[in-house]
Amino acid sequence: MTFRAVVFDVDGTLVDSERDGHRVAFNEAFAEAGLPDRWDVPTYVRLLEVSGGRQRLAAWFREQGRGEDECEALAERLHEAKTRIMRSLALLGRIPPRPGVLALLRDLTRHGVSLHIATTGSRAWVEPLLRTSFGPIWDVVVTGTEVTDLKPSPQVYLEVLRRTSLDQADLVAVEDSAQGVAAAVAAGLACVAVRNQDTRHHDLSAARLVGAGPDDPAVVDWLLAHTATRAPR
Ligand SMILES: [Mg+2]
Repeated sequence: MTFRAVVFDVDGTLVDSERDGHRVAFNEAFAEAGLPDRWDVPTYVRLLEVSGGRQRLAAWFREQGRGEDECEALAERLHEAKTRIMRSLALLGRIPPRPGVLALLRDLTRHGVSLHIATTGSRAWVEPLLRTSFGPIWDVVVTGTEVTDLKPSPQVYLEVLRRTSLDQADLVAVEDSAQGVAAAVAAGLACVAVRNQDTRHHDLSAARLVGAGPDDPAVVDWLLAHTATRAPR
């Protein structure tokens, strides 16, 4: 099986954005709003089971015993502030690539493979992050701003397929979480999983290969062996 393109998840796959990006931004948003809520790492790792920042905030406020209407209104407002804070962290280059990511992307580019993004993060912070940390290497970028359903819905991957005009068999996804692998597989794509510290306990068995990270030689070798070589760009 030979793939012509690789489509990457962002959070947890390209960057360790969860605990050092999003968590920090959520806490700054709580502080800015004068709320006493703070998420330490264990709390945040537990809350990661809920996909989507706004949904995660609403679940948290519900846990704290707030009323349904208040949960939704607070989540909406806090998520807006958090996205703004996350955007400035991205612009400042405070969310660096995971070890091995830059080398892997360089190898794939040299190999002549096109690179795409399928994330359900907001475009407001994804775009500056991709630009600041990786440069103009991406062909198609689909974010949570362009879809209605978050992963594990396949919608973001189906949108990448539509925009690239590639067949499912042409594309391999790289994901770090159970929700992400499920989204790729539900879209009919092969998926390679790269674990990180937050997804060590996830069941990633639907992936073709599960590696320790983007710097795992097994992951790099598999991707280079299963992608097509054409004249480099
Ligand atoms: Mg992820």
